[in-house]
Amino acid sequence: MGYGAGHRVLVTGGGGFVGSHLVDGFLARGCEVVAVDNNVTGTADNIAHLADEPRFSFVSADVSVGDLAEALPVDGKFDVVAHFASPASPADFGRIPVEILRVNSQGTQNCLDLAREHGARFLLASTSEVYGDPQVHPQPESYYGNVSSTGPRAVYDEAKRYAEAITMAYHRNFGVDVRIVRIFNTYGPRMRIDDGRAIPNFIAQALADEPITLYGEGRTTRSICYVSDLVNGILLLLDSDQTGPMNCGTEHEMTMHELAELIRDIIGSKSEFSYLPLPENDPLVRRPDLTRISTELGYQPQVAPKEGLRRTIEDLAAKIGIPLKA
Ligand code: NAD
Repeated sequence: MGYGAGHRVLVTGGGGFVGSHLVDGFLARGCEVVAVDNNVTGTADNIAHLADEPRFSFVSADVSVGDLAEALPVDGKFDVVAHFASPASPADFGRIPVEILRVNSQGTQNCLDLAREHGARFLLASTSEVYGDPQVHPQPESYYGNVSSTGPRAVYDEAKRYAEAITMAYHRNFGVDVRIVRIFNTYGPRMRIDDGRAIPNFIAQALADEPITLYGEGRTTRSICYVSDLVNGILLLLDSDQTGPMNCGTEHEMTMHELAELIRDIIGSKSEFSYLPLPENDPLVRRPDLTRISTELGYQPQVAPKEGLRRTIEDLAAKIGIPLKA
């Protein structure tokens, strides 16, 4: 079925980067959308353009705490509960580790309880981090991963693995209709410049003509996906009869060095490169096997890195008031 006019959707983390784009996607289809967020990493700016949208409302609440149903407007049932609340930047793993564990464990359970109560379809934003530092490349959904349960990234990686496990438990034991999307490195407008992830870091340094910091000589790889492609993939999964888990991203793999060079070239920056050792447990390679989502759902990403990065750079430059060179 296709979600659209007449459907009511809850997006947790709706004030965040991906969540706010997903909110826009549901609104464009005609849905009524409630976003819930505690703004631990999100910002009101991401949804400011919706201030006069009658089909949109925002609730300020922590989804990890208390009864979620009590925090929400009581007028009617939700058809979809999309759980996107969770900090996702490695910079946050050391800063707010317990909050990350909580939103992906108790927070996920609270959202599943709400979906069960409402008879709603539940969508979990999972991650490529469930594959850890992969020993299989590219990563198909059938790969169980290579994750440290005690390393600095465990608070996120293991929490997401738990979130997947409890999602499937609610599906098997209580019949909740669920979807799991494993999101690979996604970027686009509305990322925070100080977010701590590679793309905003590179853009901030290149805009300031400062040295661009690369870890481990910049040889680690990622496959970057523009946010509109991710939203399309998520909506295809949600409309389908597939439970998942389903990888979503692009197969365009590049080294961090290549990515930094591309950003530097688009900006016309004079930045040089500086090198630091690789952080502990940082995955060396990352590329999704997209066979399942492309054959089952017809997913095809559309936005090339150069174009997506240009849009992202324009957004971040405007936010920090740095004019772009012609
Ligand atoms: P983000 O930090 O921009 O968004 C997360 C949002 O969740 C923020 O607005 C934050 O304030 C909110 N939030 C966090 N804890 C909360 C809580 N307890 N209660 C209510 N709101 C809370 O990050 P993002 O990149 O937009 O990520 C969104 C989701 O997608 C996350 O679940 C993340 O794990 C997943 N994901 C993202 C990527 C990516 O590349 N962006 C990759 C894999 C998975």
